Amino acid sequence: MPDRLYLDHNATSPLRPGVRDALIAVMKGAHNPSSTHSEGRAAKKILEDARGVIAETVRAPKEGVIFTGGGTEAINMALHGAVHGPMKVRRLMVSAIEHDAVKAAAEGLADTAGVTVETVPVTRDGVIDLEWLADRLAGYDQVTEGAFLLAVMLANNETGVIQPVGKLGPLAWPKGGHVFVDAVQGFGKLPLDFGQMGVDMMSLGAHKVGGPAGVGALVIKPGLALAPYLRGGGQELSRRAGTENLIAIAGFSHAAKLARPEEYAELAMIRDRIESGLPDGVIIWGQNAPRLPNTSCFSAPGFRSETQVMVMDLGGIAISAGSACSSGKVRQSGVLGAMGASEEEANSAIRVSLGWTSTMADADMFLRLWKNEFQRIAERNVA
Ligand code: PLP
Repeated sequence: MPDRLYLDHNATSPLRPGVRDALIAVMKGAHNPSSTHSEGRAAKKILEDARGVIAETVRAPKEGVIFTGGGTEAINMALHGAVHGPMKVRRLMVSAIEHDAVKAAAEGLADTAGVTVETVPVTRDGVIDLEWLADRLAGYDQVTEGAFLLAVMLANNETGVIQPVGKLGPLAWPKGGHVFVDAVQGFGKLPLDFGQMGVDMMSLGAHKVGGPAGVGALVIKPGLALAPYLRGGGQELSRRAGTENLIAIAGFSHAAKLARPEEYAELAMIRDRIESGLPDGVIIWGQNAPRLPNTSCFSAPGFRSETQVMVMDLGGIAISAGSACSSGKVRQSGVLGAMGASEEEANSAIRVSLGWTSTMADADMFLRLWKNEFQRIAERNVA
């Protein structure tokens, strides 16, 4: 679609040209990494090289990287594996702003495995309430309440707010808890050091940074044992059965090499230009908290989210109302609700998210059209 402006990179980011070439290169062969012939061994090398790249990108041991069919699968694998495996998790403490993949996986386990799901609240800035968590865990009784898993995302997909995940291990571990971090939105955009972060498991995905959709990884601490989520062959050291999607994995590793946190840091200038051009009365969510440099979520009371998305789309600009909903419908954001937004504020929120295609000119194009429409709505509301 020529002449369109894509400002929805947190939903998915267009495939980077170098990644497309990497995919095509692998498509040319017959590749099953479990085969013992030359083709199989060549496939195994591609697979293990890619694992090395992902491990290096997030500073994790290579054997801790398990390839999956995307972020959602990595999340389900982590929660399922913790509940049904040797960790024997009986309680899932899930932040109020987690992605639906985490929330639904937790609710599913409440239904099927009888675990208790507890919500960790967030402040108005969209950061998990560490004081609340410290209090809750200080009184945590491991004997009566069982082992727990704390699930907190690295960066929120709607607001971009970065969570203090490094503070979680020291709170959870003394109480026999484990920590899972959904880093799908932080991967490639922020410097990551799995060892330093002090978490037990972390989910990654390729398509938010210009890799293909449907491929990701679960990164786990050495020695951590999980019940397998998918059973079958012995791939991925019997931790994730099924022939590896080598084409996508090669694209994932190539995207990981190209998506550098420094590249995303520069996007803050474009985001700031947009935010500083917004009229008075607009609420910028998470503005006082550390945020991903590529994300801006703001509410313009009186200007409904779906109207904004529609008029911008008609004007050639793709944005989103909060997270991209799998049903394709615009629905009120639970994230902003958890941050204390009123219904009016939540109903008038949109998300602009930048990526590798973004330039400073995009900010001006966005502002020109958005402010025009905002003005029109404001005049209509007065009339
Ligand atoms: N977690 C977060 C924070 C996300 O933003 C997304 C994608 O929207 C997911 C998980 C799901 O990842 P995937 O689309 O790779 O299944």
